[in-house]
Amino acid sequence: MTDYSMWILGRSAIASLLATQVAVASSLPNWANEELRRTHVIAPSSRAGTGITRFVYLYPSDRPLRQDYRLAIQWSAESLRSWYTAQLGGFGPTLSSPIVQSVALDHPASFYGTNNPGGSAYLYFWNNVLNEAIPKTGAAFLDPENAWIFFVDAPAGCGQLSGGGTSGIVVMSHNDLRGLVGNTFLDCDGTPNPSLTFPPQRWIGGQGHELGHAYGLPHPPGCDDGLPNCDYNALMWAGFYTGFPSSTYLRADDKLTLMAGPYVQASTLDAIFHSGFE
Ligand SMILES: [Zn+2]
Repeated sequence: MTDYSMWILGRSAIASLLATQVAVASSLPNWANEELRRTHVIAPSSRAGTGITRFVYLYPSDRPLRQDYRLAIQWSAESLRSWYTAQLGGFGPTLSSPIVQSVALDHPASFYGTNNPGGSAYLYFWNNVLNEAIPKTGAAFLDPENAWIFFVDAPAGCGQLSGGGTSGIVVMSHNDLRGLVGNTFLDCDGTPNPSLTFPPQRWIGGQGHELGHAYGLPHPPGCDDGLPNCDYNALMWAGFYTGFPSSTYLRADDKLTLMAGPYVQASTLDAIFHSGFE
């Protein structure tokens, strides 16, 4: 996933931070996570946890609402619900109805990776997206009632965080949409990059990894430090690259975290019936 390559590129820069701060369940460096929480809405802590996972398709003013993208996002949502539910023995995410909410953005696609909204350049794409997506949807960080996964049909600029998840919110760039429909990965300068082009299942798995971060799951012990005991094939490390859905897995500690949190519920026949016919 993009956050994995970010980890490699940014490892030396964030090593001291990681050494001195409590680890957060995030694909972002701690300082970036904290900057986002300072900049955007945090849900009231009094909210009850009904835990709906909301998949949102954001299309810029110069890009059409594409039905193939909307259906691909729905496919990812249903695949991840099934996968998490199988891993958790019948407990899984509850999806919204309809499963995918489509929302028009106010600016052309090029805006989101180029406009300076203040703050760190690393977070321009995220902050430009969230400055519109949050008021348009009612999203908030750390909301036990809702987890949000935003698919933005726009590129992040070079050096900017593109796809990632933390604290109840995931943001995905155009490459995750392209990947879901089998299109070539585009580098930050728009150049096609066949070496980062993978089958759709890798992208669904990557979205499951970032959703895991949004749900509060960390990387497995030792992985961020490059230790040999790293659980390499877990979803929350590199298992989604080639192992989704069949051979990657949630670790036992991840399952305990999810079952103790607000974002998974027991599946019911009603829920399955209802969502299966949308
Ligand atoms: Zn990660």
